[in-house]
Amino acid sequence: MQSTAAMSSTPPNPDWIAAGRSHLWRPYCQMLTASPALPMVATRGSRLRLADGRELIDGVASWWTACHGYNHPRIRDAVRAQLDAMPHVMFGGLTHEPAARLAGRLAELLPGDLDRVFFSDSGSVAVEVAMKMAIQFFGNGGERGRDRILAFRGGYHGDTLATMAVCDPEEGMHARFRGVLAEQPIAALPRDGADTDALDALLAREGHRIAAILVEPLVQGAGGMLFHDAAVLQRLRERADRHGCLLIFDEVFTGFGRTGALFACEAARVLPDIVTLSKALTGGTMALAATVATTRVFERFLSDDPGHALMHGPTFMANPLACAAANASLDLFAAEPRLAQAAAVGETMRAGLAPLAEQPGVREVRVRGAIGVLEFERLDDLDAIKARFVEAGVFVRPFGRIVYLTPALTIPSDELQTLLAAVREVCGSIARKPAARSTADQG
Ligand SMILES: *Cc1c(COP(=O)(O)O)cnc(C)c1O
Repeated sequence: MQSTAAMSSTPPNPDWIAAGRSHLWRPYCQMLTASPALPMVATRGSRLRLADGRELIDGVASWWTACHGYNHPRIRDAVRAQLDAMPHVMFGGLTHEPAARLAGRLAELLPGDLDRVFFSDSGSVAVEVAMKMAIQFFGNGGERGRDRILAFRGGYHGDTLATMAVCDPEEGMHARFRGVLAEQPIAALPRDGADTDALDALLAREGHRIAAILVEPLVQGAGGMLFHDAAVLQRLRERADRHGCLLIFDEVFTGFGRTGALFACEAARVLPDIVTLSKALTGGTMALAATVATTRVFERFLSDDPGHALMHGPTFMANPLACAAANASLDLFAAEPRLAQAAAVGETMRAGLAPLAEQPGVREVRVRGAIGVLEFERLDDLDAIKARFVEAGVFVRPFGRIVYLTPALTIPSDELQTLLAAVREVCGSIARKPAARSTADQG
């Protein structure tokens, strides 16, 4: 076991655990019935160290953010150096090297003329900014009435009120807010002829009202880890052009190597007008997001009319610590074979999960890039399944009817094998023995 000694040691059951149970409100969690959260004291590589001294191999990489593993020294040193110089400064009227460098590097790495970077602090806000950019793009051009965002079933774009309205309306976590949300057109992804015809019919009716088509390219993540191919994105690009609307790729999940390419738009060879990034942008260390627009989109905001400016500015936008972390993360992508590692993780997962494809109750096993997915007919008692993973020495978070793995791209092969063995053991027995109770705990 690597570098355990370097992790700080904490006595078992410190009193903060009780304080947390009394006062923390946890995410995606029915707090009346949920099992307590696992108390964490340290992370390293692909390992989580619990307060009682146990270590778990992390199959999720903290919602797939920690692409280089935890506590990478290069990112840690960069953040430390920035901490001494300037932890934060507002971005209104001020600028700084970490943000300027990062913007230039993102523009350089992204395809085409996706060259203008607006920073924010979460994926949801990055998507909201993209939606505002698209709507105002038409308003600034004098075109009235283009204020809808067309999105897709199976999609997930965030938890805020505007982004909930563009998530999957049925499978998503937001159905209970339906009456409150903006009504956005939601279509099936045009995977086949029938769905393409349905999309074309919708666009024929409503195309003139649509400011942008919004999609997670190649992989719809938190909505169910669903895959589609580049042809779907080409169809969307064609439709956006035909109906005069913009195309937004939400790469908050897919960006930074998760699908095997640095960006999914690059792998698909389809160029969006706006792209959103977050999650792995800082290698999973700090909150940071970016909305990146093409020159054509940006230029529509240049005007003598002050009302044509983009009126958005999160307090902590372009936080220097987060930008320093992101620059260090990009250094790692440049210096180390991350994409080859992502491919190798994918190959190992494909082999390791294949035996489960034949299990009764398993609907599909699918792998793309460093994303492994087991989809069941149904999954009951997710809390009990999570507990069994912990007993097996791994951290895995099933939701809906899927068990997924998005480990660090750097996970050592012995740890990945241990993770896969635990998944085979736990999932093999779930498939054989369906339980009755279901819980509301998700994510
Ligand atoms: C996680 C995610 C978001 C939301 O990001 P937050 O930082 O949680 O607000 C948006 N879009 C996609 C594709 C995501 O995976």
